[in-house]
Amino acid sequence: MSGNCIFCRIARGEIPSTKVAESETMFAFRDLNPQAPTHVLVIPRAHVASLAAANDPKMLGDLLSFAASVARSEGLEKGYRVVANTGPDGGQTVDHLHLHVLGGRHMTWPPG
Ligand code: 5GP
Ligand code: ZN
Repeated sequence: MSGNCIFCRIARGEIPSTKVAESETMFAFRDLNPQAPTHVLVIPRAHVASLAAANDPKMLGDLLSFAASVARSEGLEKGYRVVANTGPDGGQTVDHLHLHVLGGRHMTWPPG
């Protein structure tokens, strides 16, 4: 837990968000600035700064599984993209590990 972390505060319900799914350890909510028709952020409730700082393989597996279950429940059967922006070069702007689940349109490659 981190007192001032915006995503910790969202997971605790202290900052409003549009919840998509939750479990004892995970929380999923809609991105405030969606980049696709479906854009959900999936986070562990426990504060971890980034993928680079994560050291719990079980948590990482659960996070990825949770993202896949969110994609299923969002009806993304045509496909989707899962992104973990990591660190400054990765474009990470919120220092709490999160997966973006993007879908509802064709994704291009390479990313910007
Ligand atoms: P990053 O750039 O770190 O990979 O992703 C952070 C994401 O969090 C961005 O897509 C941004 O739109 C989203 N975001 C930032 N602050 C909030 C917020 O207060 N509520 C929600 N729902 N999304 C946020
Ligand atoms: Zn946090």
